[in-house]
This record gives sequence, C-alpha cells and structure tokens, in this order.
Amino acid sequence: MDTADIAQKIISGDRRALARAITLIESARADHRTQAAALMEALKSAGKQAVRIGLSGTPGVGKSTFIESFGLMLTAQGLRVAVLAVDPSSARSGGSILGDKTRMERLSRDPAAFIRPSPSQSHLGGVARRTREAVALCEAAGFDVVLIETVGVGQSETVVAEMSDLFVLLLAPAGGDELQGVKRGIMEMADLILVNKADGDLKPAAMRTCSDYAGALRLLRKRPQDPEGYPKAMTVSALQDEGLHRAWDEMTALVNWRRDTGHFDGRRAEQARYWFGQEVRQGLLARLETPAARATMQDYAARVAAGEMTPTIAAAEVLRQIDS
Ligand code: GDP
Repeated sequence: MDTADIAQKIISGDRRALARAITLIESARADHRTQAAALMEALKSAGKQAVRIGLSGTPGVGKSTFIESFGLMLTAQGLRVAVLAVDPSSARSGGSILGDKTRMERLSRDPAAFIRPSPSQSHLGGVARRTREAVALCEAAGFDVVLIETVGVGQSETVVAEMSDLFVLLLAPAGGDELQGVKRGIMEMADLILVNKADGDLKPAAMRTCSDYAGALRLLRKRPQDPEGYPKAMTVSALQDEGLHRAWDEMTALVNWRRDTGHFDGRRAEQARYWFGQEVRQGLLARLETPAARATMQDYAARVAAGEMTPTIAAAEVLRQIDS
C-alpha cells in the first residue's frame, strides 16, 4: 500500500492502519525506514494536536493501575487515549515490562483506547526515536491524550520529558519521612507529583509524603512556563479511583495556561530542536559502528596504547578518515 493511502487511513482513525504504521516505524530495515520517513512527512500536515503526558515512576508505584483508571476516566468523558511506553530495559530482558496489554485489561478492551508496548531496541536512542514517531502517529490519528509511560531508570525520564507536554511523577507513600531518594533532577522535571495509594492504611503516609513533596517543590525556582502554585503535589488512589478527576483538572489547567501564554508551542518548538540535534548526534555515532570504522578505531587504539601516537592526534586522524 502506498504511503498516502496509509496516511489517509490513519487520519480517518483506522486503528489497524495505525498499528501497522507503528510496526513500520519500529522496523530497522532500510526500505521500512524510508517508507516510515515518507509516512511521517505525509502526516505532518494532519494538524491535530494531542495532550502528551509523560508518566514516570519506579516499578510497583502503580503506573499500570493508574493508567488504566485514568485512561478509563478519560474515555468515559468521550476522549480518545493512546498509551505508549519507553522501556529501555525491555531490550535487555527480551520482554517488555511496560505497556503490556494484560496489565491494563479493561483499558485495552476500550474501543477509545490504544495501547502499544515499548519497542525492543538495544539503545535508548532507538527506543526514543520510535516512541517519538509513534506519538506523532497517534496524534495524527486524532487521539486527544497520549500517555507515555516509563520506569524510573537512568535517562529514560529525560527522553520522555522531551517528548511530553506535561511530565507526571507517580510516587508511593514513603514509610519514613525521607523523600524516597527521588533525584532532584527528576523532581525538577515534574509538572505534577501524584502520590498514589492514598487509601486505607496507607492514606496517612500518602498525605505526609505529599506534603513533604509539596514543601520540596516550593523550594524550587518558579518556572516561567507555570502559573503561581505549580508544580503541584497531590494524592490519588488509582485502585479506588480517587483524585483522578482532580489530577486531570490540574493537567488541563496547566495546559490551557501554557497554550494561552505561548509556552505550549514554545516548548514543542524547543523539543523539535532537541530531537533534531539528537538525530544528528546519533547519526554521527552510527558512523563509528561500521566494520571499517571499528577496525580503524582498533588500529589507532593499539597505536595510542603502545605510545606511538597521542590520543588527540589519533582521534583527529580517525575522524578525518571517517569524514573522507
Ligand atoms: P507498576 O509496576 O508501577 O505498573 O505498578 P502496578 O500498577 O502493577 O501496581 C503495583 C501494586 O500496587 C499492585 O499490587 C497494585 O494493586 C497496587 N496498587 C496500585 N495502585 C494502588 C492504589 O491506588 N492503592 C493501593 N492500595 N494499591 C495500589
């Protein structure tokens, strides 16, 4: 089928066409890459805009429970929801721990929802590109909300934050009064901190954890893209469906404010710039991965180790050879 045809089907909301297009963008085959690039170009003008929400949290905090309840709440309001995942660990373990449909059984049966597990790629860069393109596909397909889930490992939060309009951090109630070792950098990325499991015996701990984080957020510098009082921390119970409407209200309030003030489009433009830079960098790195380049590297590495050349001169020589 030709690209224009697939594009038309995606725009008209054909889910099978969307699923097949995502398979196409996940493929590493050169002819598929070319087709995928043409498809992305064809869809660029679809002009539809979703709210892209990044969601991060360590395993066990309740991400899948939250996404299911939150997703069902949104579809009940007549919104269409896509769920994607960035899970760099799936490549290593051979199976995805995120985006697994069986984890969100009710949502995956909802005709207004679309769930796609993380692509398995050995590099976070590869996962990032595929997910970013899948986000664009879902957006062109007319989804109102695209949720991008990630586990709290390494760089994956940054990757997800760079493709989201809003970044939500999901936490569990802490046992003591510590801030659960959440890295400051990750907290600074969050637009909304949700302390989950605020129900039953865990409720008091959840409320304490929430006020700890609210206090920590107040110490951060106010960001130009936020109105007074943001970023915010609040409690929810994904299991008991509590606080989810409130969380959505906060998200829409923030999105509307950013739209009105131009920060929404500004951020997307910045993200496009960022991904452009990343693509160029990755392209350069990929040039070092050819057998010829690897042999050259090994050759010069041996000479440097033997003291025949300085690292600086050897590196300059390798780069000159790769460029030519
Ligand atoms: P994930 O690993 O982050 O996707 O976490 P899951 O959604 O699989 O949830 C991990 C565990 O926490 C499961 O046993 C859930 O039933 C439980 N859980 C999730 N949300 C809540 C909640 O709001 N309240 C309580 N009490 N338990 C929850």
